[in-house]
Amino acid sequence: MLLASRQTSGPALVNGRSAHPQAVPIQGGTDVMVELNFDRYRPEYLLDLARVSELRQWTPDNGRIWLGAGATFTRILTELGSRLPGLAMASRTVGSPQIRNRGTVGGNLGAASPAGDSHPPLLAGYARIEVESVRGSRQIAADEFYTGVKRNALRPDELIKAVLMVPPAGPQQFCKIGTRNAMVISVAAFGLALHPDRRSIGTGIGSAAPTPRRALAAEEFLAQSLAEDGLWESRAALSDATSCRFADLVAGAASPIDDVRGTAR
Ligand SMILES: Cc1cc2nc3c(=O)[nH]c(=O)nc-3n(C[C@H](O)[C@H](O)[C@H](O)COP(=O)(O)OP(=O)(O)OC[C@H]3O[C@@H](n4cnc5c(N)ncnc54)[C@H](O)[C@@H]3O)c2cc1C
Repeated sequence: MLLASRQTSGPALVNGRSAHPQAVPIQGGTDVMVELNFDRYRPEYLLDLARVSELRQWTPDNGRIWLGAGATFTRILTELGSRLPGLAMASRTVGSPQIRNRGTVGGNLGAASPAGDSHPPLLAGYARIEVESVRGSRQIAADEFYTGVKRNALRPDELIKAVLMVPPAGPQQFCKIGTRNAMVISVAAFGLALHPDRRSIGTGIGSAAPTPRRALAAEEFLAQSLAEDGLWESRAALSDATSCRFADLVAGAASPIDDVRGTAR
């Protein structure tokens, strides 16, 4: 049974979620419909979030960007390239145009796959996830959101409402390695953000551990190296030794396994 009608509002949704915690939320459906088509589960209820226009919006909010959970990857990459460059770069690598037109950042968080492409830039950009239930709303730091393979910190009656991120004061990058160039789930992915205003580094490792995760020792090492070498103020290159040590610390933070997409090595 599909819960929600064309007129559905946010409050109606959280009420629906509370009344039917076993209902499966569906936004773009690019993960949910695959599960249904392969008969992996047959939920009694689907909770249709796609009719709630509020969830598809993004807006500046006190120096941050409030990005509705229902914002598609296409919207992120076409509208937020200058405000959230790391997330926009990651969005560009998701699936195909059809998947990017339907798939959303909220769905990526809901699925919480270690290979989800939005996770590394959310971690590197110190994003916060806004979740809501009939009991109210709360924010969860991205690095506390992923709790296990395809598991997240949502309580049974909660829905993901938005992602909150500060537009960067410094450069951001995202890269993804796959078995081909397009339409591919990552073998490994990495997000990097420099935060010169805080003199800190943000990282996000994808597809190389049970959950997306930060490389904390690498972040601390690079922030300190930039300070010691005066590189927060200049655009001079990093030394090879610093780059190699950073890479080693990132690799050390990962815990990949042999799987269908590649060996751990
Ligand atoms: C052909 C194909 C290629 C793909 N390629 C990629 C890729 O390259 N990179 C990548 O990261 N992903 C990829 N995916 C996976 C998928 O597109 C993404 O995970 C996408 O972000 C899911 O978004 P959605 O809105 O379609 O989610 P849905 O399918 O609607 O939902 C996904 C999960 O999140 C839950 N959920 C959705 N919204 C909420 C909410 N607001 N609150 C709580 N729970 C919620 C659902 O219950 C479900 O468990 C691919 C999928 C397909 C079919």
